[in-house]
Amino acid sequence: MFQAIRKSVLDLFFPKKCLGCNKTGTYLCDSCFNKIEIAQNNKCPFCDRPVAPSQICEKCAEKYFLDKLIWATPYSNALVKELIKAFKYLYIKELAKPLSQLLCLIPGVKHDAIVVAIPLYKKRLRERDFNQAELLAKEVAQYFSIPLETAVIKRTRFATPQVKIKDHKTRRANIKNIFEINPKFVKKCIGENQNLLKEKTIILIDDVFTTGATLSEAAKVLKQAGTKEIWGLVVAKG
Ligand SMILES: [Zn+2]
Ligand SMILES: [Zn+2]
Repeated sequence: MFQAIRKSVLDLFFPKKCLGCNKTGTYLCDSCFNKIEIAQNNKCPFCDRPVAPSQICEKCAEKYFLDKLIWATPYSNALVKELIKAFKYLYIKELAKPLSQLLCLIPGVKHDAIVVAIPLYKKRLRERDFNQAELLAKEVAQYFSIPLETAVIKRTRFATPQVKIKDHKTRRANIKNIFEINPKFVKKCIGENQNLLKEKTIILIDDVFTTGATLSEAAKVLKQAGTKEIWGLVVAKG
């Protein structure tokens, strides 16, 4: 019912037009998609030191628990920004396809890994109806034929959305210790008699990387649980 209302409101106020060139019938036409340039990931996303593609410098890797950050485009790309906003805040689910295709175009996504999405708090998930990071994760896992685990970590509490907070310190404090290993996943490990994270590489998916606080908090609990490497994979880097 809500879905139907949402859809008709969407059609009324937001007719299907390419967000790049206004061509009707699609939110992103092929020609605008092809113009989106995949960035060169050759600077540490936390401190800007030059690094090999997608790497995080040693110091920051230790501090922030992430081993790599693979990102498609800068958030300053006006079209990508519009696409992400429409996907997240206008709930245009079908944008998961082209946005995840951008993720699949980046070289170096490891194939023997587990894909995990940054979860939403359960109340927010109910309000939003879908977790945008999980939709991207599903597409990526399918594209590379690698397993997707949807319930590895969960949020322990509600937090103000990071986008509403400007300064870095407050952002970190806002989200500190917000994730824990999901009891459902613990049960699954007990059922299979093994730590399913041990010695694994996890590809942790989110839409945007700004300060990296969210990915870092999630990576922290995954590392504590035995994961070998954590790679962040995001559409845009702010
Ligand atoms: Zn277009
Ligand atoms: Zn660094």
